[in-house]
Amino acid sequence: MNDELRDRLRGVAVGAAVGDALGMPLEFGPAHPPDRLVRDMRPGRLPAGAFTDDTEMALALAESLLAHRPLDPADLAQRFVAWYRAGPDDVGIQTSSVLGQIARGASWQEAVEAIQQARPDAAGNGSVMRCWPVALAHWDDLDALLADSRLQSRVTHPHAECVAGCAFVNAAIYHLARGATPRAAIARALEQAEAPTALRQAIAAAPTKQRRELPSSGWVRHTLESAVWGLLTTDSFEEAVVQVVNLGNDADTTGAVVGALAGAAYGLSAIPSAWRVAVHGEWPLHSGVRWDEARLVALADRLAGKA
Ligand SMILES: [Mg+2]
Repeated sequence: MNDELRDRLRGVAVGAAVGDALGMPLEFGPAHPPDRLVRDMRPGRLPAGAFTDDTEMALALAESLLAHRPLDPADLAQRFVAWYRAGPDDVGIQTSSVLGQIARGASWQEAVEAIQQARPDAAGNGSVMRCWPVALAHWDDLDALLADSRLQSRVTHPHAECVAGCAFVNAAIYHLARGATPRAAIARALEQAEAPTALRQAIAAAPTKQRRELPSSGWVRHTLESAVWGLLTTDSFEEAVVQVVNLGNDADTTGAVVGALAGAAYGLSAIPSAWRVAVHGEWPLHSGVRWDEARLVALADRLAGKA
């Protein structure tokens, strides 16, 4: 692996956590006007620089992939449940419902089937927000990357747009890490993700949107639209993430997704150092272990086989 590729894969892990932390205080807020964008780590419901459930679930997925490759969905489900039982600050509605059933003894397949019957149209962003570790684990195998991206979504988010959304994000990371331009990476990933037509059209149209046309809600289609808009209408890591988190609403999750994509496009070295110094979290929950940039970099290296 050359230095540039390694820097980009590290940039995915740190970029996702940085985007999550930057968006955290802006979550559920209104869009900030273009002349008053938040550009620094601020406190919200958590201290400044703290990442949220998006990154916590990604760390659970990462550790599952370090133990089992290809992904073992039952192992992943158990790791998610262990996190859920530890009482995270935030858990998505669908994730909570599925993990609650597994915690009470259902298999992940039974839990997902029940949620599909109860809420067949639910297509939240809870699986795309955490999917990036698959792109690091399979950076050199696109078929395995696509298969495990889809499978990790099915454990909590079986809707076709969620499943395809994860394949899309990680395929885009795959091409960006190899040096494709953002535009080329997005186009190729859209072909390979086999996304339902409506999702495909929304992503393809994203760079033509105006800020006011981007709701940035918890719907996977809105999240991907905002993240792709940020990546394709800016030319730096900082600007991509700043523009997206300042759309407000589900800002930590849109921040995590655009952070992973922009991290792959520009690399770890392009992430502002003040953000890299500030980003942190505790993992596992209540373990007292503080995660920082160095730990995220080490994790990226282990996932990519550079331990
Ligand atoms: Mg969150």
